[in-house]
Amino acid sequence: LTRLRARLARSQSGLGKGLLTLLSRDTLDEETWEEIEETLLGADLGVGPTQELVERLRTEVRVKGSRTPEEVRNLLRTELINLIGADTDRSLHAVRQPDERPSVTLVVGVNGTGKTTTTGKLARVLVADGRSVLLGAADTFRAAAADQLQTWGERVGARTVRGPEGGDPASVAFDAVKQAAGDDVDAVLIDTAGRLHTKTGLMDELGKVKRVIEKQSPVHEVLLVLDATTGQNGLMQARVFAEVVDVTGIVLSKLDGTAKGGIVVAVQRELGVPVKLVGLGEGPDDLAPFDPAAFVDALLA
Ligand code: GDP
Repeated sequence: LTRLRARLARSQSGLGKGLLTLLSRDTLDEETWEEIEETLLGADLGVGPTQELVERLRTEVRVKGSRTPEEVRNLLRTELINLIGADTDRSLHAVRQPDERPSVTLVVGVNGTGKTTTTGKLARVLVADGRSVLLGAADTFRAAAADQLQTWGERVGARTVRGPEGGDPASVAFDAVKQAAGDDVDAVLIDTAGRLHTKTGLMDELGKVKRVIEKQSPVHEVLLVLDATTGQNGLMQARVFAEVVDVTGIVLSKLDGTAKGGIVVAVQRELGVPVKLVGLGEGPDDLAPFDPAAFVDALLA
């Protein structure tokens, strides 16, 4: 395992081509299986899922006798989709047209992962669908963050509630939800600060934001934004957030910037929370619902 991890650190390959070449070998011998395992690890699938997957493939191949590369590839495709969860509910509360308004969504994650961008893109999706949206700039530590959110709001047609720089994030969140309720707004999206200074600091801050909102409305959705390009490191940070708030969905951002899409599998496994959205660029339309089958096809292309 240590050896595999060491190789993983050097490996830059994605899944597609490497796997197909491996599967095209005449015999799937021990060495080939090891290389298949390394390729999966190299795509950030994570150690647990990789071993499970390879074990299942090996068993299938053993039981059914010899198989063509195409058959093994299809088997891999099916197993990967199952691993990700084809039937998992990945719908967003804000999109499900809730009766109770506003639908309250908290967007959390480490700074730089794409929280503000994701909040803007999500607002765009909702507005395009005819919903009224209000943005809450609860990252009061950086004035630039609130500016950035407000710019997104103006771009997509959503009002932004912000507080004084250095002010209380929870109070901004409270005001945003209050205004949204008063104005009969459909959805309020709250962008939070993601300073991972200390776990307790974060816990206090995010916990307070949530508790204060809950004085007037339930928090219906907590989206954790994770930068796909940070791989297993991002996963460790995600774990901290998941311990602090009840995350209901993951947004995997910057998937356009990596060949290591296997992180989808790793993060779901690790956090037990479905990936609901993926970020595919910096533009307003670069947010997509996560579709396991399409994703696996792209991964294996
Ligand atoms: P925050 O600090 O978590 O709010 O992160 P930002 O929303 O400010 O995003 C940080 C940087 O990542 C910005 O330059 C964004 O344009 C960029 N970014 C965000 N999402 C994506 C994505 O899906 N793809 C790409 N390529 N860039 C993204």
